[in-house]
Amino acid sequence: MAEKTRVRFAPSPTGPLHMGGVRTALYNYLYAKQSGGNFILRIEDTDSQRFVPGAEEYIIEALAWCGISPDEGVENGKMVEVPSERHPHAPYRQSQRKHLYREYAEQLVNNGFAYYAFDTSEELDQLRASYEARGETFTYNYLVRDKLTTSINLSEEETQKRLTEGNHWVVRFKMPVDRVVKMHDMIRGDIEVNSSTLDDKVLWKAIDELPTYHLANIVDDHLMEITDVIRGEEWLPSLPLHYLLYEALGWSHNKPNFAHLSLLLKPDGKGKLSKRDGDRLGFPVFPLEWRNSEGEVSRGYREDGYFPEAFVNLLAFLGWNPGTEQEIFTLEQLVKEFTLERVIKSGAKFNPDKAHWYNQEYLRMRKTDELAKDFSQILSQKGVKSDINYVTEVISLLKERAVFIKDFWELGEFFFKAPADYDLSVKAKFWKAETPQILDDITKSLNELQDFSKESVELLIPSLIKERGWQMGAVMNTLRLAMVGASRGPGVADIIALIGKEESLSRIQKIIKAFA
Ligand code: GLU
Repeated sequence: MAEKTRVRFAPSPTGPLHMGGVRTALYNYLYAKQSGGNFILRIEDTDSQRFVPGAEEYIIEALAWCGISPDEGVENGKMVEVPSERHPHAPYRQSQRKHLYREYAEQLVNNGFAYYAFDTSEELDQLRASYEARGETFTYNYLVRDKLTTSINLSEEETQKRLTEGNHWVVRFKMPVDRVVKMHDMIRGDIEVNSSTLDDKVLWKAIDELPTYHLANIVDDHLMEITDVIRGEEWLPSLPLHYLLYEALGWSHNKPNFAHLSLLLKPDGKGKLSKRDGDRLGFPVFPLEWRNSEGEVSRGYREDGYFPEAFVNLLAFLGWNPGTEQEIFTLEQLVKEFTLERVIKSGAKFNPDKAHWYNQEYLRMRKTDELAKDFSQILSQKGVKSDINYVTEVISLLKERAVFIKDFWELGEFFFKAPADYDLSVKAKFWKAETPQILDDITKSLNELQDFSKESVELLIPSLIKERGWQMGAVMNTLRLAMVGASRGPGVADIIALIGKEESLSRIQKIIKAFA
């Protein structure tokens, strides 16, 4: 039997999760779920300088909002710290796994795959500066490592002395010279890189006794028995190092498969989608709202009023398509249909209009009474009391025009209160000397109407207009102005019937007085 798929989403808690990060999590989730595998959340927080308080909680909450729940790593909204049957590899936060990594770094040194480097940061700065002065760039690699203060050229004794005396040393990977590293990416196919183009990356630092991303990532993927690594394209340049690390640690035979996802691009396709694009063009790039330490707020899809289902659906389509015309997919359907073979290699352009379109589609699919419940919350926040059946009727009239639940207020405020003022351009166009008299006549007829349904109102008004020889446009528009305060909204008869006899008649009197 094939081994069970185990994938992980391994964000660093350096700030709010970008929507590209959520897409990575989503593709991992879909990939795992379609084969009944496990989706694991691991927090890669070994870079204490980039740690941002609240970011981990944000990541957990964002995944939960999207319905992408990890099988391992999280329980009751918290990272699991103690191993259990369900979470055998806890803790899943790398800072709590600190003690695990050193032995692997040492193993690499002992087997000749890595070395100790003692240069101080001042020395390295000086080196960089002197290279720059010559118009060159300093790279810590095979060309320089023998000339620097490393265990490669110091005596065993001297190395031991330096290791025990100070903690300003690091373990660096000894990148092989002129080796063609042959790799495979499930999306991009075969890739080759000559190792001489790569530098000797730091793997472990004595100063904080912490591994760097590369070592911790490989060790944990191995220990957590990860079968497939699906991550952002920005990690593709690290892939040769990761291959070589697997080899050096003796784990080549069961290293994971890799897939690198292309970037999310700006709407015009020119460059990576950034928060600034969102601010400039008016859309969120984060799943949830985020307040940074300076109190600056970045908008989120959730707070902007997106349905999580719509957000997940639109994310799935940023880089994948099913090869058919179908664009609406529930998470369950995505699990069935998703394949890495259909993930595009090129960047995926983000289109804010498409995001709106998705939300509108999900809003239309939602049951009217559910929308009414959601909208009632907004109404009560606004201090508007309203009967749920009435709200449901309002929603059925406005449903087709809304993109977000909050739009119902803008589209239908007049269903809940009489207009406070009137669009004077409509008045200028349609309000005539005889209008008050006409409205009074309409008032009388409406008042006599026994069955105050939309159908009877719809029959009554045009027949009155015809009978009395009034101008259809002028009458309908002034009636609408009386009900709405402007020239928008659903059918006049719909509005009059729904707000009811008493309210309609009072609005007619109100406008007559206002323009008297
Ligand atoms: N911690 C890395 C990140 O923040 C994870 C990269 C990977 O998945 O290997 O993106």
